[in-house]
Amino acid sequence: MAIATVNPATGETLKTFDAFNVGEIEERLYRAHSAFQDFRRTDFAQRSALLNRAADLLEADQDDIARTMTTEMGKTLVSARAEAAKCVKAMRWYAEHAAEQLADEHPAPGDVQDSGAARAYVRYRPLGTILAVMPWNFPLWQVVRFAAPALMAGNTALLKHASNVPQTALYLEDLFRRAGYPEGAFQTLLVGSAAVEGILRDERVVAATLTGSEVAGRSVASVAGDEVKKTVLELGGSDPYVVLPSADLDKAVRTAVTARVQNAGQSCIAAKRFIVHTDVFDEFAARFVDRMSTLTVGDPMAEATDVGPLSSSQGRSDLEELVDDATRRGAAALCGGQRPPLLEHGWFYEPTVLTGITEEMRIHREETFGPVATLYRVADVDEAVTLANDTSFGLSSNAWTRDAAEQERLTRDLQAGGIFFNGMTASHPGLPFGGVKRSGYGRELAGHGIREFCNATTVWFGPEQ
Ligand code: NAP
Repeated sequence: MAIATVNPATGETLKTFDAFNVGEIEERLYRAHSAFQDFRRTDFAQRSALLNRAADLLEADQDDIARTMTTEMGKTLVSARAEAAKCVKAMRWYAEHAAEQLADEHPAPGDVQDSGAARAYVRYRPLGTILAVMPWNFPLWQVVRFAAPALMAGNTALLKHASNVPQTALYLEDLFRRAGYPEGAFQTLLVGSAAVEGILRDERVVAATLTGSEVAGRSVASVAGDEVKKTVLELGGSDPYVVLPSADLDKAVRTAVTARVQNAGQSCIAAKRFIVHTDVFDEFAARFVDRMSTLTVGDPMAEATDVGPLSSSQGRSDLEELVDDATRRGAAALCGGQRPPLLEHGWFYEPTVLTGITEEMRIHREETFGPVATLYRVADVDEAVTLANDTSFGLSSNAWTRDAAEQERLTRDLQAGGIFFNGMTASHPGLPFGGVKRSGYGRELAGHGIREFCNATTVWFGPEQ
């Protein structure tokens, strides 16, 4: 894929970039590795000061970087500003909490005595240079939620961002440089995906994190496995949204729309499969379709727009194929199911609700990365759980019920990295984020996230000392 800024709202190519050559990559690997030798010795107070400074700069740049993101990948300007603000918060949160999250751990004396130690503890030390392969859908947030903890832990970072968001990628490098990080602590590599293997095999890169598709995740994990290097994978999702009779239907419907069309539906944790109890199905369906069909689709720079374009022509074709396959096999579009007739340019798609989904339809198994919801009717909680788990993904899940026994049952049985009751899945700095099954492994955010790229070192002292 060419490294370029192409405006999804118009299809116009605005700027192209040459990929780095071998020498330019080598230079950055050298710098990242050298920077680590000193950066790992800095203390938490020094790292906090740097990250807080980066947060302040980002806060001041919020409007400009939001425009860049909207121009590069089509998210609404309103949501781009909110994304930048979320990054500022997460940076400040890690600046404040990293020291306590990575404080030495002292096992109970009884546990240590058996090992013959006078004392022993666990120290979380940084690993080294981490490669981050990142997607375009939340071009600032995906990077920050990796970089803030990784840098607070004392690691250095190399970012290979998606090829359609090069200006956001370069902005991030510049942000950390302006904040005063040492040269090489955070660098952007303008490279295509074919260059990832060579970089990951370089001995100066010690681990990798990838957020993206299953195909990309499998490729990076297999190279890393061959090199025995740690990976964290945040891959696709097809999150269920279960609605049971005790739900507050009004809130469940309003939240369902946001949960499906946020970021024009291009979110790994978007609710994608709406699984509704038969007692409330008709009412939920009518209200959901009504709201989905009255959303404003159009110019992402306009404040009133709810749904902007998809990020690429290919992304829209992929979505169209899934919808066409489903309708050919008998699914019914209760709304949408096509490109908006009045928006000729750009990669827009109407918010769509499909029902009558059967197992042989591709859409039943594959991730819909766009504003298309599938709606299922179920007879009871058992059927809801079976259907919710009938997917190779396991990122997060949403359930609407006020019944405590049902909540307990769903917490026990839903196969996902998160279960959000009476609200929608979202990521928060203080809560771990990640999936099971083919949605990946490892966790980002909270204490779990910062410890992924640390060496949990056992420090043991014999009786003589
Ligand atoms: P993608 O094609 O996998 O791209 C993501 C990143 O991986 C890009 O930087 C891409 O580079 C790179 N890449 C692609 N193929 C690669 C390969 N074979 N080896 C190494 N790197 C490779 O993903 P996408 O389709 O743009 O993004 C959407 C996917 O990401 C969806 O499945 C979504 O659910 C998932 N996602 C998951 C999370 C999560 O937290 N779980 C969050 C956001 C998105 P190029 O751009 O140069 O191809």
